[in-house]
Order: sequence, then structure tokens, then C-alpha cells
Amino acid sequence: MPMFHGRHPCVFLDRDGTLIIEKHYLCDPTAVELLPGTGAALCRLRDLGYRLVIVTNQSGVGRGLFKQSAVDAVHARLAALLASAGVRLDGIYSCPHRPEDRCACRKPATGLIERACAELDLDPGLSAMVGDKACDIELGARCGMATILVQTGYGATEACVPDVVVADLAAAAAWLATHRELPVP
Ligand SMILES: [Mg+2]
Ligand SMILES: [Zn+2]
Repeated sequence: MPMFHGRHPCVFLDRDGTLIIEKHYLCDPTAVELLPGTGAALCRLRDLGYRLVIVTNQSGVGRGLFKQSAVDAVHARLAALLASAGVRLDGIYSCPHRPEDRCACRKPATGLIERACAELDLDPGLSAMVGDKACDIELGARCGMATILVQTGYGATEACVPDVVVADLAAAAAWLATHRELPVP
């Protein structure tokens, strides 16, 4: 992947099974439930100096199961829940395509990260990817990031080789706090 050299470190976050409880083809905003400790973990990551960006595959749109407006409503609900926990995201990037569309943005393709880095001035080399699936870890590796597999969601049964396997997002934040020194801004 072509490397950008933006200024800011970022933690790229998978959505389902990482920040919120995994529900198959979630499209109802009232069904959004934060995993325990998500708000506090994101606050800690922000205090460490990371931008926070969600990257999520939402092929239910391309499959015709729900509309992009439903994805947007889920994300508005998620942002509201996080605001109640005192944290704001810098961006949410989602791929609406099916695997057979062979787009450039369905994880582990790097399109979402390339867009986020360009739009938000992010440096993948200072960044990390946190997710519960092999595609998240593969994406992070392709972009030269630290990769962290959380065992929430599908993470307990995925076959992949991340830099570290942790219990949940809080443990991911703790690992980044002790293993990644960021340049002083
Ligand atoms: Mg996931
Ligand atoms: Zn796509």
C-alpha cells in the first residue's frame, strides 16, 4: 500500500464485536449496545494521543438487506452512546459492498484506511488496528500498523497472527499505553 505520512497517530477500530455487541447484520439503532468498558477504553486511547476512527464492513447494504440510511442511523446512535460516555470519534468509514463486488474498500482491502489517512491527516506507521476478525488483523498488517485482536465478538476463534491478543478493548488500550511510545505532538 502506498504510504502516507500524515501527522496524527490513530487507533482504527472495528465496530461489531469490538466496540459494540456483535449482532448479525445489525441495522436497528435501538439494538446498538456498547461492550462493557468501551467508553472508558476510548477515553484512555484519546488521552494517550490517538485519533479514533471506525472502519467497518457493512455488506448488508450491497446485499439489499438494509439501506445506507440504516447504517447511518446505527452510527448516529453509537455516537450518541459514546458522547454519553464522554468520547467523540474522529470518523466512521464503512464499506457497503459485497465480497463479489471486489471493491477497494472491503476489509482487508485498504481503501477505507487510505481515505481516512488522507482526509484526517493520519500516519499509519504511528497507528494501530483493533478488531475481532482475521480481516481486521490482515488490514492492519497491510498498512504497517500494530495489530491487536480482541477476544470479544469472533476474536476467540479467529485464525490469524496479530501482534497481540487481548481480552477486550480496555486491554488493548492498556497494551498500547505500555508498548507504543508516541512522539510528543
Ligand atoms: Mg468485528
Ligand atoms: Zn467496498
